[in-house]
Amino acid sequence: MAHILLRYGEIHLKGQNQRFFLDALVRNVRESIADLGRAQVRHAFGRILVDSPAEEEALVGRLRKIFGVVSLSPVQVASPALPDIAGAAVDIVGAALGTRPGIATFKVDTRRADKRFPLTSMETSREVGQTVQHRFPQLQARMDGPDLLVRIDIRDQAYLSSETIPGPGGLPYGTGGRALALISGGIDSPVASWLGARRGVTIIPVHFHSFPFTSERSKEKVLDLCRVLAGYMGPLGVWIVFFTDIQRAIQLSVPDGLRVLVLRRMMMRIADRLAEQDRATAVITGENLGQVASQTIESIAAINAVTRLPVLRPLIGADKMEIVARAEAIGTYEISIRPYEDCCSLFVPPHPRTQPGLGEADEAERGLPISALIDTAVQRSERLTISPRWARDTLPVGS
Ligand code: ATP
Ligand code: MG
Repeated sequence: MAHILLRYGEIHLKGQNQRFFLDALVRNVRESIADLGRAQVRHAFGRILVDSPAEEEALVGRLRKIFGVVSLSPVQVASPALPDIAGAAVDIVGAALGTRPGIATFKVDTRRADKRFPLTSMETSREVGQTVQHRFPQLQARMDGPDLLVRIDIRDQAYLSSETIPGPGGLPYGTGGRALALISGGIDSPVASWLGARRGVTIIPVHFHSFPFTSERSKEKVLDLCRVLAGYMGPLGVWIVFFTDIQRAIQLSVPDGLRVLVLRRMMMRIADRLAEQDRATAVITGENLGQVASQTIESIAAINAVTRLPVLRPLIGADKMEIVARAEAIGTYEISIRPYEDCCSLFVPPHPRTQPGLGEADEAERGLPISALIDTAVQRSERLTISPRWARDTLPVGS
């Protein structure tokens, strides 16, 4: 039986609504490990404790991706009696010596919430430290910067850990409404979706596919990105929108300096329509101020003008380096840099307009049968369910 202790952060600040967020967190934890065996997940003393017959490594791989979890530790559970605690400490140190090379010094640190325990925290640390020292004479006790820190938390039981693994933080998935997340095959949009989801928003990915301008491979790429995201969020309902006719129509009737902008406006209009079907109330994009011509304030204003939905742009102020680092930590970067054809890059003229007036965009769209194009695109869209790809569990997750 493996035991994992999960710590949460912001939920502690949630006053009256705390129960709602905690219930969601416990539910998400349960669902993420449901296929690994019959687990017990319970909330106790401001933490969440998971008991499961699964392998510790597999559990950690899943649980470190749960939004709302700030950090986690595999723990040994002992009865709150000194000999048992000392025995568990010896087990933990033995296990650490077997898996982590180069441990020469150690420290025992005790917190005692149950004041009925007969020894003080200091006394407990000293006694347990002596037992460890006796069993592993090659180790030296060091109070300042030890190689191995054994933490003992005495509550209803004693919980011992020697490792604290960072989680993604944020709020439990599913507690913050629903948004359509526009996902290209690039680096930015999967990160933007992840950031939205980390604030609790349920994500419905939407990809605009322009076969044969863009190949089947670029669609596969987006689905692979969604598989990685599903590792954090659970199964995702993904829209693949038929965008070919719109792309053609724009090419025929829109002046080249405004094509990308009109393309974005068409994406937004379709998102608006899908949102209605899917009960979503926002759109998330990977736009980033000033990165390209269609991401200036003027272009953003022209894009927002065609929807009533709030458009969330979690990356608006990020630098490219920050976005790349985040993509690497999440596990989407390797997929995003696979070569692919971007439906928009086909359109980018040598001098795209960076400061289009609102009237100009409307004018450029005059020759487009907008609502007929939207109807066809929506009718010919596919809806797929994408499940997590657990093989990616081993990737590190930054917070
Ligand atoms: P990304 O790296 O996500 O492609 P980007 O900075 O390259 O972002 P653009 O290519 O200008 O930006 O696209 C801006 C945003 O529009 C994207 O972040 C994404 O949210 C959305 N988008 C662009 N192309 C598509 C597409 N084919 N399908 C779905 N969304 C798209
Ligand atoms: Mg792009």
